[in-house]
Amino acid sequence: MKSELIMGIPVDNLSYDNIIEDISNYLDRHRKMTIISINPQIVTESKKYPDIVDFIWRSTHRIPDGIGIVLVSRLTGGSIFNRVTGFDLMIRILAYANENNKRIFLYGAKPQILEDTVKNIKHSYPDLVVAGAIDGYNQLKDKEIISQINESKSDILFVALGFPRQEQWLARNIHELNVSIFQDVGGSFDVISGHVKRAPDIFIKFHLEWLYRSLSNPKRLGRILQLPIFLCKSIVWSMRNDKRNR
Ligand code: UDP
Repeated sequence: MKSELIMGIPVDNLSYDNIIEDISNYLDRHRKMTIISINPQIVTESKKYPDIVDFIWRSTHRIPDGIGIVLVSRLTGGSIFNRVTGFDLMIRILAYANENNKRIFLYGAKPQILEDTVKNIKHSYPDLVVAGAIDGYNQLKDKEIISQINESKSDILFVALGFPRQEQWLARNIHELNVSIFQDVGGSFDVISGHVKRAPDIFIKFHLEWLYRSLSNPKRLGRILQLPIFLCKSIVWSMRNDKRNR
């Protein structure tokens, strides 16, 4: 698998099919596979969090989540041509888990959202097992969360606490978790639960989901400038550094 550096953060050149194939191999060998979404926000802000940068370097699959990452790769002579979004990947992993009767655990989001996420997953994927779920606003200690997850004997854990909490939680606790496949999934439960609508197809087709999200949520309006700023910074960084991760 080829990797590239974007402002010092590694991203892997992967496809959905590669990842699903790897999931099957890691599960067979009982090895830990960590799937982390690399997007403009994580690249620009992770410098404030050395624990997250270290965790990204140790992760097995750093997915190019978003058009910003793909554009930087293209504009700087890299080889990442397709994005792998955290949400679409989660949906494919659910389909894989359903076909192979795997056990999943959901950690994160508001209680009602989590409840509706579990309900919708059980309805759409009746052959997988939702072995447990904990909301992201609980008062439990890490130790208690870890023991619930371990007791569930889950194969796959989805963590939906948003950046930087989900990455920090995983970095801190992964060594104690007896799970094989880990994915950080941001706001994906909000969408699966039906509480948040995904962007219309036309926005998805032209890779403009980020624009739709910024325009439809006043709190995110400030993020509209993030992409052009990120592109400029990353291109300057790549001109100054050897971009390839040899
Ligand atoms: N979240 C959570 N616990 C927290 C903060 C956030 O479970 O303490 C959940 C939140 O409910 C949402 C997801 O994490 O389902 C993503 O959160 P947010 O929208 O803040 O992250 P962003 O999408 O902006 O990265």
